[in-house]
Amino acid sequence: MYNITLIPGDGIGPEVSEAAKHVVDATGLNINWETVNAGEKVFQDTGVLVPEKVFQSIEKNKIVLKGPITTPIGSGFRSINVMLRKKYDLYSNVRPVRSLPGINTPFKGIDLVIFRENTEGLYAGIEQELPDGSCEAVKRVSRNASIRIAEAAFEYAKKNNKKKVTVAHKANIMKLADGLFLNCVREVSQAYPDIALQEVIVDNMCMQLVMNPNQFEVIVTMNLYGDLLSDLCAGLVGGLGLVPGANIGKDISIFEAVHGSAPDIAGKNLANPIALILSSAMMLNHMGETDKAEAIIKAVTKTIYEDKVLTCDLGGKATTNEITKAIIKNI
Ligand code: NAD
Repeated sequence: MYNITLIPGDGIGPEVSEAAKHVVDATGLNINWETVNAGEKVFQDTGVLVPEKVFQSIEKNKIVLKGPITTPIGSGFRSINVMLRKKYDLYSNVRPVRSLPGINTPFKGIDLVIFRENTEGLYAGIEQELPDGSCEAVKRVSRNASIRIAEAAFEYAKKNNKKKVTVAHKANIMKLADGLFLNCVREVSQAYPDIALQEVIVDNMCMQLVMNPNQFEVIVTMNLYGDLLSDLCAGLVGGLGLVPGANIGKDISIFEAVHGSAPDIAGKNLANPIALILSSAMMLNHMGETDKAEAIIKAVTKTIYEDKVLTCDLGGKATTNEITKAIIKNI
């Protein structure tokens, strides 16, 4: 039996995490889901944003499936998502972006993976207001964090027979911070003579991705660029409802979709659960349950390609519950 921490989150989080949980259970695995939650609603009920039992559960089980958690804009509390990644040193944010058959998009056959540095950069949260009323945010880049995300990207490329890793950076302008990151990626690439390193300035990267995304296999980049490029890439394959993700650390890993809490559709049974369902397949792969992970991916593919059951974001009419039932039937 596996013990897994489930954090439903808020917005569409409870709907899609319930869906993902049912799909994982349908594979026949014996899972004890330990449900704990954090965020604004939890604060209203308990007076704390992240109750101690959330940390205890994560530290005990080490594997987490997580829905999105809303972060207030401009003021209010700092991101709980970013805090968890930093607290547990989940340095590698892995976001596979793949074209799925049956989804109508301008490009076919996109198959790339973004490796986003997940613990520092402009997300370090070092900000201050200066006496003249202006504000500054510090971009922190360390050699250690840059080397290990580069190693994660190259190791993935090697294991999966990829021929090229692309680093997206802005070292022409931020010569020290992005320069250090770029130099670390170059250094790591030396140990992988069979894998080419392509260096692309991040603004050009955006254009290349919308003109010819099929040229990319593995992308390694810094925290903020990785976040932006992920949503851009999600748009290439049909939207945020389809793209999964994993936050991987040494001992603890949190699996969550790229998308946020989507307040515009929350509570309406409209959310596409596929991104979190595919995140749960990444989780099962990570746990060594590769057959079960494959069964989930096949069931998702059959549901959208053969059965043509699609949620609103994909041009269909299926509700969250309906597509979840259709996926479960195909497992
Ligand atoms: P968002 O990803 O929540 O939504 C962007 C757009 O995509 C919306 O139109 C939404 O309806 C749509 N969308 C997203 N997921 C979908 C799904 N599964 N099915 C169908 N449509 C979907 O981005 P946002 O609106 O910029 O952010 C909302 C909140 O989520 C913010 O508070 C933000 O901080 C938070 N957020 C959290 C995480 C996380 O928990 N890891 C990640 C990103 C954003």
